[in-house]
Amino acid sequence: MGIKAETLLKIIQSLEKKYGTPQKPNIKIPIVDQIIIHFLSTQEKQEDIEKAYQSILKEFVDWNEIRVSHLREIQQVLQPFLKSQVSEKAHKIKDVLQQIFMLYNKIDLEALWEKDFSEIQKLAQQIPGLGQEFLLKFICYLYFQEDSPLASSFFRIGKRLSLWDENSNQTALKKNFIKEIGLEKFAHLKILLFIHGETQCLAKSYDCLNCPLCKICNRVQKDPSLQEENEEKMVQKSKKDSKELKIGTKKEKIKTKEKIQKNSNPIKDNEKMKISKRKKK
Ligand code: SF4
Repeated sequence: MGIKAETLLKIIQSLEKKYGTPQKPNIKIPIVDQIIIHFLSTQEKQEDIEKAYQSILKEFVDWNEIRVSHLREIQQVLQPFLKSQVSEKAHKIKDVLQQIFMLYNKIDLEALWEKDFSEIQKLAQQIPGLGQEFLLKFICYLYFQEDSPLASSFFRIGKRLSLWDENSNQTALKKNFIKEIGLEKFAHLKILLFIHGETQCLAKSYDCLNCPLCKICNRVQKDPSLQEENEEKMVQKSKKDSKELKIGTKKEKIKTKEKIQKNSNPIKDNEKMKISKRKKK
């Protein structure tokens, strides 16, 4: 019997409270372009990043031309649009294109869309500065595609929840999810489980006591000590919350609000970018 919409939506809602709601990217940007945009973005406004990116596309024939261009030329193209660390950014772009060229013998990474996600993780490890933020952007692009491969963390968490595992038939599983919750929500499920599997429900360690899925997770249900600890922790948390609410001054409340806004919704924050599609030359 398939997994019902109710269960899947419960998982999505619980994880969205922690990680935010994934935003569907308007267009699919080539992987190399995503990497370049990532390095242009530090301390810049969205509109300026877009202008700088478009200017690069207009002034150079392709990424390989930028790779072999003089740093000064790249800097001149970026200068009118960017406010911060322009020479460092020009340097980084040239550097990163060279690294990609050394690793793949070409500056085109589109074949990675079809590969297992571990290939992208490997790339992110090989290019300093890409890190988690880039991966997060990338998985939103990847998982909003219907045929994207399922990550190993997807099966790991499914197994811990006792809902599906690596022996499940992938085609049947996907069909079941799409029928129950539709393509868009299925993409949310893949993205949220991926983030959860990379940050909290890891392969060798898991923080069940602070997990938004603890109430429906079979691993917690099987271990009464975890349930007890969890209940105790929740009682303590609610006592602390109500106390804070009563004694919090206006200033403290504003500070907390700022902190929450700063930390909340990593997916939304990372997906604000709406870069126009690269023109085919
Ligand atoms: S309760 Fe523990 S095992 Fe279950 S999903 Fe959460 S972190 Fe993973």
